[in-house]
Amino acid sequence: MELICICCPLGCRINIEKNAEGFDVRGNSCPRGKQYAIAEMTAPTRMVTSSVLVSGGKEKMLSLKTDKPIAKSLIFDALATLKGVVVAAPVNEGDVIKADVLGTGVNFIATRSIEKA
Ligand code: SF4
Repeated sequence: MELICICCPLGCRINIEKNAEGFDVRGNSCPRGKQYAIAEMTAPTRMVTSSVLVSGGKEKMLSLKTDKPIAKSLIFDALATLKGVVVAAPVNEGDVIKADVLGTGVNFIATRSIEKA
């Protein structure tokens, strides 16, 4: 399997194959690439971004991101937990908007501050 490492801007092209001892990884320029490739084969994760409505603020929408990567298989269910969420201003960057999403320990946090209108 061929992957592009997304851990840094270099974007190494990595080949990974399963073998009797574990995985044969080639093409990575550093150990992070090997860790990334093995994680993609065994338990792929992603940071997730979204947005929710704001009430009483100078902006109408608040952008969010997860504070840690979440299992790729849970992304759609994680996004569904934000349905209908409306945040009251003021909001500070880093505020937890949705805690412990799906019991994963991952939180959706605000990526910016929004003052009251
Ligand atoms: S393998 Fe290392 S150097 Fe290459 S893209 Fe990944 S993090 Fe960057």
